Amino acid sequence: MANINSKVSVVIPCYNEEKSLDELATRCLSACESMQRPYEIILVDDGSNDLTAEKITALAETHDGKIVSILLSFNCGQHNAVLAGFSRVSGEIVVTLDADLQNPPEEIPTLVSKMDEGFDVVGSVRMNRQDSLMRRVASALVNKVVQKTTGIQMHDYGCMLRAYSNEVVETILQCRERSTFIPILANTFAHRVAEVEVAHSERMDGDSKYSLWKLINLQFDLLTSITTFPLRMLSVLGGLISSFGFGLGVLILVFRLIHGPAWAAEGVFTLFAVLFVFVGAQFVALGLLGEYIGRIYHDVRDRPRYFVHQVVGRDGQSVS
Ligand code: UDP
Ligand code: MG
Repeated sequence: MANINSKVSVVIPCYNEEKSLDELATRCLSACESMQRPYEIILVDDGSNDLTAEKITALAETHDGKIVSILLSFNCGQHNAVLAGFSRVSGEIVVTLDADLQNPPEEIPTLVSKMDEGFDVVGSVRMNRQDSLMRRVASALVNKVVQKTTGIQMHDYGCMLRAYSNEVVETILQCRERSTFIPILANTFAHRVAEVEVAHSERMDGDSKYSLWKLINLQFDLLTSITTFPLRMLSVLGGLISSFGFGLGVLILVFRLIHGPAWAAEGVFTLFAVLFVFVGAQFVALGLLGEYIGRIYHDVRDRPRYFVHQVVGRDGQSVS
């Protein structure tokens, strides 16, 4: 468990952020210094095509031992860049942050002191969020869906200003899936989670690195990292359509007996009833395939099957 002397590793993915890097480094360094404990700042260049790579390399050389730079050879995406950083952390507490200064680095000590209380993951809720209306509405919707499906009450999954224990980071790294959404994955393994409120500012420079398409893709990563339930929905939908077709068939038969053959447009409705039953059956079959695909998906992700929170009683020790 983290204590007040534990080392802190800050991981920051940077994609075409050359303009904000100097201020980012200065503010992160002074925030980390203020904690008076060992720290490292890991800057990961996600295959930028501006001067980000050169800048973070220079920063690492100037602040040797405090700033580490990792250069990825092509654009792998924000979450993969964070994973690359995770694979090289040496601290007991790992904090993630965006490079665009939308999350103030001054909040790092707040997260760390919350971690010192013994939490595995500390998330953050953005106060006065400074994003476009569309982003905020989409975010609110996604957060609601995640809260409903996971039952874990965190209010803001989109904010990357977060802290994780080293054990959670290690476990995340053991997951073999390609499409990841780190905050969700972390919550899957965490035993104790907490949230703190943090400030939010506008992007320091440039525009969001997420195009609409990339954003939609990210939401699918998020959804598939939580659940394979949509696959099961196919069977449910199929069942509903088939039952409707069957019900319609029975109704038509009853009306046919009461009102004679002229009723129901000479059998056209009967055709519909038969059609519904078959369409429904196809959905059920797809759903069945979905069940197998879901299981294959769980297997290829190869997530750790358990996460040991604590062992008590071995050699008279309590290990957490
Ligand atoms: N980022 C990255 N790779 C990408 C896209 C983004 O490393 O392909 C980084 C980016 O430099 C920033 C963080 O991820 O530090 C969040 O990106 P951005 O601010 O554009 O997202 P938004 O705030 O709009 O969600
Ligand atoms: Mg941003």
